[in-house]
Amino acid sequence: MFHIAAPEEIKAGKTTDFYFTNTVKILKAKGIHKHAAAEVCLKDFPKDWQWGVLAGIEEAAYLLEGLPISVYAPEEGTIFQPRQPVMLIEGHYIDYAVYETPLLGLLCQASGVATKASRSKKAAGNRSVISFGARRMHPALAPMIERNAYIGGCDGVASLAGADLIGMAPRGTVPHALVLMMGDSAAVAQAFHEVIEPQIKRITLVDTFSDEKLEAVRAAEVLGDALFAVRLDTPSSRRGNMRQILEEVRWELDYRGYKQVKLFVSGGLDEYKITELNPVADAYGVGASISNAPVVNFAFDLVEIEGQPIAKKGKKCGRKQLWRCPGCLYSVVTPASETPVLCPNCQSPCSALLTPLIKDGRLVRKLPKPQAIRDYVLSQLEKLVLCQP
Ligand SMILES: [Zn+2]
Repeated sequence: MFHIAAPEEIKAGKTTDFYFTNTVKILKAKGIHKHAAAEVCLKDFPKDWQWGVLAGIEEAAYLLEGLPISVYAPEEGTIFQPRQPVMLIEGHYIDYAVYETPLLGLLCQASGVATKASRSKKAAGNRSVISFGARRMHPALAPMIERNAYIGGCDGVASLAGADLIGMAPRGTVPHALVLMMGDSAAVAQAFHEVIEPQIKRITLVDTFSDEKLEAVRAAEVLGDALFAVRLDTPSSRRGNMRQILEEVRWELDYRGYKQVKLFVSGGLDEYKITELNPVADAYGVGASISNAPVVNFAFDLVEIEGQPIAKKGKKCGRKQLWRCPGCLYSVVTPASETPVLCPNCQSPCSALLTPLIKDGRLVRKLPKPQAIRDYVLSQLEKLVLCQP
């Protein structure tokens, strides 16, 4: 059997940490049945990140729906920074205590994947980024990873189940195994053209046996105008200078009149390598750097008990609101009771981002489709000038 929790076990809180079941047992034994508000907030980003993409809201809503609690959160895909609350939960603490573990798991991993995908897409600009990393993670997670890679900005995903969840056709070429099976990359290009549906773009792999530029020219000679792109997945032991390899392939193709043939690169890519290759590459397959993205370490803290503000040391007490200027993304956190804020840059009214998601156990927000979330993410990335990836 697969070593995964079933959806109903997750819903029932079975993946929680033991210390929460101890907590609930003690609170019940002592008759402590207090109303409490808890917030989800990040202290610091991993590595050099300066912003994140909030993801996992749809699954969080699925997890918490039906509990006797209310939940406030920004729209999925909202760009956030440390010390900005991204969720507020209110209800009797014993009703939601055990959900801290699965809730954080859903938000931390999804937001890590979406953020890493956004960083790759931001580096690639109008070049395509395809998520190739399902193979590095437990297959049960493939749809979740691919969906969050897509909403973060990837243009497509490779795994069938991931594409299904997003409602798009999967993307991909052929593996080296097929070139080995057929013995020749040009023969594979020809066979792909004969066998695969005509609406699928003709992209052929050109690094299996011979030099990339020679195999690229041969593929172009075999397929002519039908060849959409060549894919270079050059092994790291042969890379030397990948940018120069791409420049050579570009030159050889252009010199022979194959200017329409695009260069698709995969293998060990991340946002930094994309930045380096972007002047010459046209599209990227990004694997483990997205699927194995660092998690965003959200914390879950009580900030109010029985209407009284409270917090442990190191945290700010009380319910808060996160305000955002829709024009310039200026953000500020205030006590929830404060009146709306004007953006100091644009003078326009800021929007309150923590809005109702669940009211007394009932979902009260229409959850957007992945395409709409991705559009929202990309529109914010355009305004993000505060940092490079
Ligand atoms: Zn503004």
